[in-house]
Amino acid sequence: MDFELGKEEESFRDEVRAFLDENLPEGVDKRDPAFMKGWLARVRAKRWVGYAWPEEFGGGGGTLMKQAILKQEMTSRTAPPLGTCLMGLQWVGPSIIKYGTEAQKQRFLPDILDSKYQWCTGFSEPGCGSDLAALQCKAVRDGDDYVVTGQKIWTTMGTFAEWMILLVRTSWDPEHKHDGITCLLVDMSSEGIEKRPINTMAGPAMFAEIFFNEVRVPVDQRLGDEGQGWQVTLSSLANERSGISEINSLVRRLQKTKDLAKKCLRNGSPASEDPFVRRRIARCDVIIEAMRLNGLRFLTAQLRGEPLSSETSINKLHRATLEVEFGELGLVLQGDASQYVKGSSEAIDRGFWQKVSLVWPETVIGGGTPNIQKNIIAERMLGLPKD
Ligand SMILES: Cc1cc2nc3c(=O)[nH]c(=O)nc-3n(C[C@H](O)[C@H](O)[C@H](O)COP(=O)(O)OP(=O)(O)OC[C@H]3O[C@@H](n4cnc5c(N)ncnc54)[C@H](O)[C@@H]3O)c2cc1C
Repeated sequence: MDFELGKEEESFRDEVRAFLDENLPEGVDKRDPAFMKGWLARVRAKRWVGYAWPEEFGGGGGTLMKQAILKQEMTSRTAPPLGTCLMGLQWVGPSIIKYGTEAQKQRFLPDILDSKYQWCTGFSEPGCGSDLAALQCKAVRDGDDYVVTGQKIWTTMGTFAEWMILLVRTSWDPEHKHDGITCLLVDMSSEGIEKRPINTMAGPAMFAEIFFNEVRVPVDQRLGDEGQGWQVTLSSLANERSGISEINSLVRRLQKTKDLAKKCLRNGSPASEDPFVRRRIARCDVIIEAMRLNGLRFLTAQLRGEPLSSETSINKLHRATLEVEFGELGLVLQGDASQYVKGSSEAIDRGFWQKVSLVWPETVIGGGTPNIQKNIIAERMLGLPKD
């Protein structure tokens, strides 16, 4: 890969930096609703919300390289998100662009870009998360509606999202489990939907169980053809997937860990001088650098027009290792002080590490567990026998 940026890309990077200097002043409160409203309006006006979406649908029509630059510059300054309709921007919108009817495009895409409301994702069910193709929630055609009955679980934002992208079973063939799956766009205020929040050990409920009791969903809210749900949700709209922008936050976390090691004592000296601690921190540093280089390799492949699929499991696995390590090391370094939690005046870094240690399982499991990533790498990349 050529590590230098071309002239056009350099000037785009400078444009993003100048925008950040002007619109993200030092010390600004990013939780202030008035600031966020102005921020969202300004990034929308630049067409940086949905930057890679085609211009005809209100996106920026940006290239993969510029998309990577935009994301990197934003994360390096811990900027607020480019649009708050997160799932809408990540996969609902791209799926609608590829498979939606004209009416669906007009109805949903502008609202996603304008951050009008939230979408949630109804894929996982009790008993099928990793093996998603075994899903059971069923939809039966009745006139101009589908009637949906079944249950979903681990639905992020399920208690308050206004719309859901839902996978249902419309037919069952044990030999071809993927074929009988259909994708529906569901108004979450529909009659017959019951939402039960799930508390996590990290605090307030992020997730919900969603029950569908004969919920009627108009057929014109089906995305793609009946039985095409699997392909629909593997939307292949050109999207930068190298993951290099996440490196910035990992580097920050590593620095915070080093700072913690300097201020905590181990056998009477700063923990940062202990060979055992130094080895663990160095290992994290090496993994982050491996992820950065992998990311650049993935980006190069995408720029050459090569499709990305199983390779991204490598960095997902590295990320899981880091999450666990940061979560554990943060507590080990504090020794007995690790027992103080957020809110206690004795808590180091205001209880930040205690929170990290409770949250890491979410990042490790969400989007596919490490075991599943290992299976993907083994079977699809190394050509080992099937699990
Ligand atoms: C933060 C977070 C957000 C999420 N958000 C959503 C959401 O918005 N919508 C949604 O639909 N789902 C969501 N999920 C659910 C998530 O997709 C599933 O939790 C995940 O796919 C794992 O499925 P499962 O929980 O059913 O575990 P299981 O699939 O039952 O796995 C249990 C254990 O068995 C292992 N295992 C399973 N199969 C194999 C195998 N073949 N080989 C080896 N080991 C195996 C797994 O690695 C794991 O350790 C979210 C989860 C998290 C943590």
